Amino acid sequence: MIEERTLQLQHCMYQYSRAIYRSIKDLIDPYADRGSQVESRRAVLEACEQTMERLARDPLYFAKPDRALFQDIRRYFPITAQAEVAWAVQAGVSAAAHFIEEQIEAGALDGGVARCRATTRKGKPCQRTPLPEREYCPSHQHLEARAAA
Ligand SMILES: [Zn+2]
Repeated sequence: MIEERTLQLQHCMYQYSRAIYRSIKDLIDPYADRGSQVESRRAVLEACEQTMERLARDPLYFAKPDRALFQDIRRYFPITAQAEVAWAVQAGVSAAAHFIEEQIEAGALDGGVARCRATTRKGKPCQRTPLPEREYCPSHQHLEARAAA
């Protein structure tokens, strides 16, 4: 089951990296010769994929992934396209980061962090850390007593 989820997640991240790539590939230096254009495109696509992979693997420790990606690829774009590329990268990466956050909240990603088993009044899973060796956080510990009874 976990493997299936991982595959599904990888597929989604792949879609996000393709979307970012598609939104900027035509901005790659139009005056470069054909050969270097092909190479630039490959480098940009690879950078997008690596960023998405790292984001999926390390979502909590990857600070400013949009800036990291932009720094990696900006040299392939003419100065006149930089602002547009920065914007597209920011939009694409934040959509992917938001998706990952939702997966973590839904418990689909094993971040190695235990979560309280309770559901909040808004119907979302409680995000707090359980008490040591317990399944519920301090504000939901009464639920554990009830389950035990
Ligand atoms: Zn809780």
